[in-house]
Amino acid sequence: MATKRDYYEVLGVHRNASENEIKKAYRKLALKVHPDKNPGDKQAEEAFKELSEAYAVLSDSQKRATYDQFGHAGLESGGFSNNGFHGSPFEDIFGDIFGDIFGGRSGRRGYRGGDLRYKLNISFEEAAFGADTTIQVPRHETCSQCGGSGAQPGTQPKTCPTCHGAGQVRYQQGFFSLTRPCPDCGGAGEVIEKPCTTCRGSGKEKIKKSISLKIPAGVENGTRLKLTGEGEPGSMGGPPGDLYVEIGVEKHPIFQRDGQNILCEIPISFAQAALGCEIEIPTLAGKVKMKIPAGVQSGKVMKLAGKGVPNLHSYGKGDQLIIIRVETPTHLTARQRELLEEFSRESGEDVHPMGKGFFDKVKELFG
Ligand SMILES: [Zn+2]
Ligand SMILES: [Zn+2]
Repeated sequence: MATKRDYYEVLGVHRNASENEIKKAYRKLALKVHPDKNPGDKQAEEAFKELSEAYAVLSDSQKRATYDQFGHAGLESGGFSNNGFHGSPFEDIFGDIFGDIFGGRSGRRGYRGGDLRYKLNISFEEAAFGADTTIQVPRHETCSQCGGSGAQPGTQPKTCPTCHGAGQVRYQQGFFSLTRPCPDCGGAGEVIEKPCTTCRGSGKEKIKKSISLKIPAGVENGTRLKLTGEGEPGSMGGPPGDLYVEIGVEKHPIFQRDGQNILCEIPISFAQAALGCEIEIPTLAGKVKMKIPAGVQSGKVMKLAGKGVPNLHSYGKGDQLIIIRVETPTHLTARQRELLEEFSRESGEDVHPMGKGFFDKVKELFG
């Protein structure tokens, strides 16, 4: 057996500390290492066990006297550690100290409520600028008729006859004495004889909870927002779960998102491309005029700085990127065809340097 620490040392009190001082010390330390506050932390769990054991002994004047005289050995030979330490005395201390702090049923350890997911579709603009909205989340809530007890108002849940309220049963396996949650009350320590008619004894009601939500500017398709404590309620005084809102952003007819940048294709005629022009460009903040230089090529990307989407995680905004698409004219009138044929006879290599460069290379390679 591993060496046990001195119980007074565990609680950090003098050997002649009063009952009240011991209780205070336990309360202070237990709040720090309580498993509800340190989920999954093995060290805290061990510390909490050690602390509870020390308190169980030092808060009982008879056990304390035995311990003072004989130390740990005195308690072991007295059969204390084999005699219900995990049973009701432990539960009593637990309930006494934690009943009012954790709001639990006699302070037994509750279960954390489940996490919830909610898919929220928003417009392209709402994602870019942020929005305030209200969502209706289907979830459970403490039953309004029975206040969560599960018992019909006017009746009381009674102490479970199987575990006598401990919520656990002990059984023997070889040398080991093991505990498991009571099969008859599911660990609650209580059984309900007349279940509440509204919740049929579950203590919970299905509701649609209205939650106001601030969507930050700059969210993207797939961004998850976490709302702590807005998930399913816990049971037996356990904390509630969390709500995850997953954002879906609707497609925009002309804009596309690329991170913080907004992409937009602008079609221009080949005459506009050749001669240069000034066109109106749509942005999220309205139209802006932009000069397109003469001779611009299809596929050219031009930038409107700062016309993008705010960064969700820091400062600054992205840009709007304009992609020029030169449109080849179709359905020509007779007159347009005539002009283009004349244009074609007039245009030589000087007007199409890109084409000249390409065909020069073809000639070099293939003769
Ligand atoms: Zn039981
Ligand atoms: Zn109810």
